[in-house]
Amino acid sequence: MKPKYKRIMIKLSGEAMAGDEGFGLDHNKIDAIAKEIKKCYDMGTEIGIVIGGGNFWRGRDGEGMDRSRADHMGMLATVINCLAMLDALEQLGVEARVQTAIEMRQIAEPYIRLRAGRHLEKGRVVIFGCGTGNPFFSTDTAAALRAAEIGAEVILLAKKIDGVYDSDPNINPDAKKFDKLSFMDVLNKGLGVMDTTAATLCMDNNIPLLVFGLDEPENIVKVLCGENIGTIVS
Ligand code: UDP
Repeated sequence: MKPKYKRIMIKLSGEAMAGDEGFGLDHNKIDAIAKEIKKCYDMGTEIGIVIGGGNFWRGRDGEGMDRSRADHMGMLATVINCLAMLDALEQLGVEARVQTAIEMRQIAEPYIRLRAGRHLEKGRVVIFGCGTGNPFFSTDTAAALRAAEIGAEVILLAKKIDGVYDSDPNINPDAKKFDKLSFMDVLNKGLGVMDTTAATLCMDNNIPLLVFGLDEPENIVKVLCGENIGTIVS
């Protein structure tokens, strides 16, 4: 198998890092994902990763809280996931760095675009923490923003379900999966692929989205190599 892209952004939800109950960290799952990322890395692919924080905290969970503060907590949650993934990758011999949008220099590098680019050129995986660094945004938006900044050709959006459907397949057994979609379709039909801020950013910057299921972590390699297993949004 040969990679179709040279530089990619992988977006993992916080839940991808958790066990079946959706909370905390499941090291077997993290290791399984890290092994697939290593395969992409071994093929010479330059890899950026954005990880969510929903397995610990989402800003909207903070009912009655000041929203910005609740979002700060969410951004901190992403860093725990980034460090867990960094560790798993390093244990496999993958050179990687974490850069955070909010400075925490004792723990990780601050996000510096040119430095991130340099790491990627040198073959290091860069894991971006703290989302965009701003409340009221999501890590999907962070993935779109960082992808645009580092010049990633595509975003690999790993999901719990195996693509984009016209309705929720967990509720509607007749739900239809799309092979291809435009960002306009996603926005007009209100399809829950990613939030509208993130989708707009991808559309405006011509960054296609490859949506696929992470129930089988080897899907990461398949998608990288151009296999049409999920939904392509462009
Ligand atoms: N968050 C934020 N700004 C960002 C990215 C994330 O405030 O740029 C906060 C927000 O509270 C969000 C939480 O971090 O709910 C975790 O991110 P997200 O919900 O995107 O994680 P996922 O659902 O992918 O696990």
